[in-house]
Amino acid sequence: MLHIGNYFGAVRQFLKLQADGNECFYFIANYHALTSLRDPARLRELTNHLAAGYLALGIDPDKSVFFAQSDVPQVTELCWLLNCVCPVSMMAKTHSYKDKTSRGLAPNMGLFDYPVLQAADIVIYDADLVPVGQDQRQHVEITRDLAGKFNLAFDKSFDKGVIVVPEPYILDDVAVVPGIDGQKMSKSYDNTIEIFLTPKQTKKRCSQIVTDSTPLEDPKDPEKCNVFALLRLFATSEELAEIAAKYRAGGYGYGHAKARLCELINETFAEARQKYDKLLADPDYLQDVLREGGRKAREVAEATMQRVRDAAGIAMHR
Ligand code: ADP
Repeated sequence: MLHIGNYFGAVRQFLKLQADGNECFYFIANYHALTSLRDPARLRELTNHLAAGYLALGIDPDKSVFFAQSDVPQVTELCWLLNCVCPVSMMAKTHSYKDKTSRGLAPNMGLFDYPVLQAADIVIYDADLVPVGQDQRQHVEITRDLAGKFNLAFDKSFDKGVIVVPEPYILDDVAVVPGIDGQKMSKSYDNTIEIFLTPKQTKKRCSQIVTDSTPLEDPKDPEKCNVFALLRLFATSEELAEIAAKYRAGGYGYGHAKARLCELINETFAEARQKYDKLLADPDYLQDVLREGGRKAREVAEATMQRVRDAAGIAMHR
């Protein structure tokens, strides 16, 4: 489920790119989810919830192509073709595989191949730019490498490359949002504050943010506090300076900071939460949006695949 790390690290930038008039493709990565999920009903539910979440936060299906990954099965076909030019050693070095298996996820081939499917997800839409944070730069490098290898192996007749080699569009001002335990917020670490919670649930989650045991009356260092790090995302610079002064003066407890953080989260997402509830209550609308997005995405993907199949010597005998 979407958490505030996703919001500040990704969704806010998606909205800006959309507002700037770029032709954007945003999708729900349900094929990738299958690398660890074994519950079809849950996957369907998560897909719907994510669709509602992105739409509630402002992804506009009239401006961006918004769809479910699996509605473009061509992407798995392209993944296979890229697999055939991908050295095993390249995958063995990726951060995500090492990280996920070290946390106990079953090392299946889907998990190993995750970055190749990501590469297919990018190049199938002839993407020029891939908006990512610094932490995801390696994935774009892998994509560029694989596109280059494919073009070198098969592209005898195209000047520009049968596969467009994308550039990373690094979102520099993007903060890494800490989770309630101070590590990077991530659903894999069970340390998230989700966006679409009730105010009561938000309060409970905020109360679970880990702090040290400095007594209420003592001065505290805001720079060492997880609550303050999260307040930075929501409070104005004036309010932040005021809160920092209160930390340093003493007599201001972590509980006060948590209560203010909770209020700010609830205010920031109040409107989106209302929209989210409405969208979830209208599954037909969600289906229509995803169906239409899938149709647009498939059109672009199929055109790319015709070039790619042609270059590789694979014809569709229909
Ligand atoms: P998670 O780590 O919870 O599985 P994802 O890998 O699905 O999150 O990330 C989706 C997007 O959100 C990516 O673009 C990623 O860079 C961004 N993102 C995720 N967690 C954070 C975070 N803690 N801070 C900043 N950006 C984040």
